[in-house]
Amino acid sequence: MKKLLYLPIVLLLIASCARGNGLYTETRVIMGTYITITLDRSGMTDDGLAKAAGDAFARITKVDNLMSTYKPMSNLSRINTNSGIAPILADPEVIENIDDASYVSSLSGGAFDITVGPLVNVWEIGSKKAHVPSPETIKKTLPLVGWRGIVVDKKAGTVFLKKRGASIDLGAIAKGYASDRAVAALLEDGIKGGIVACAGDIKVFGKKPDGSAWSVGIQNPRGPEGSVIAKLPLTDMAISTSGDYERYFFNDGKRYCHIIDPHTGYPASGLMSVTVLAKDSWLADSMGTTLFVLGPAKAYALALKHPELEVLMITDSGKILATGRFKGMKIAPVPAGS
Ligand code: AMP
Ligand code: MG
Repeated sequence: MKKLLYLPIVLLLIASCARGNGLYTETRVIMGTYITITLDRSGMTDDGLAKAAGDAFARITKVDNLMSTYKPMSNLSRINTNSGIAPILADPEVIENIDDASYVSSLSGGAFDITVGPLVNVWEIGSKKAHVPSPETIKKTLPLVGWRGIVVDKKAGTVFLKKRGASIDLGAIAKGYASDRAVAALLEDGIKGGIVACAGDIKVFGKKPDGSAWSVGIQNPRGPEGSVIAKLPLTDMAISTSGDYERYFFNDGKRYCHIIDPHTGYPASGLMSVTVLAKDSWLADSMGTTLFVLGPAKAYALALKHPELEVLMITDSGKILATGRFKGMKIAPVPAGS
């Protein structure tokens, strides 16, 4: 889904994964990123652990095969190439993602919008061709964007994009969804506790073999990869970070990141990073992106209205905005500026 080269891991798993500590760990590259599964070995044979991890990776691969825009024959790519032409039969998982995304679009006044595809394509952020498009190009592209232009026919099981040239990009929600699917598979296979980390979209369940909580670190948005501003103990939660340091370029001293405001056509600014805790990983993932687009004031106001989310935001000036358990937590300072 995202290109490996440009994808530093946002959140760091702080888990020691040697066999002696009662954990099983396996990493594979799927969805253009590193995916690590860590499992509590309790009550499982080596074969049982390998099978469970394999089943979880298979669920993630299914999501990738359906929803990648880098795969021309994926279900989503076929929906996109047929925009304005014909409805396309869609897998129930694709429809579920589109439904979830529409819910987030409506609660955010359209700040979250999976039809940003054409804007993502003109900016090319994350590739060597990243550049500031001309104002005319932005103006021409904006009318193609709008989540209300997605027509889902549940009875027929089809998805249709009304405008020719419109396209869906699930990059801000599908990795979270994949983490949810993977954890469901692990639970079905009898695993008591573990972590699925799809780059920065992490879901933990149960506890560590010694009965303590899992520990997840939050990346310092202006520090080297792996430096953390806070660590938090987690059980049965999803955590996701959206940051301007993941994929970006500089032009005339200004940073342009990969998260785009669908109303203006320009990359969002005002925040360095947004971390969201939620029960479901698709929600943590999509809301991280949403709050990043909204910018500090609107994002904080929206976060306060949603107690099911716990949010940690770092503004461009290094200010911390926090709700839920992040409030009053010790967070290392982040210097202001690009
Ligand atoms: P994330 O890293 O989870 O914040 O997702 C960022 C990715 O989501 C980008 O690389 C785009 O593919 C896509 N995207 C960018 N802006 C938006 C937006 N406003 N709404 C939904 N998806 C977006
Ligand atoms: Mg996201």
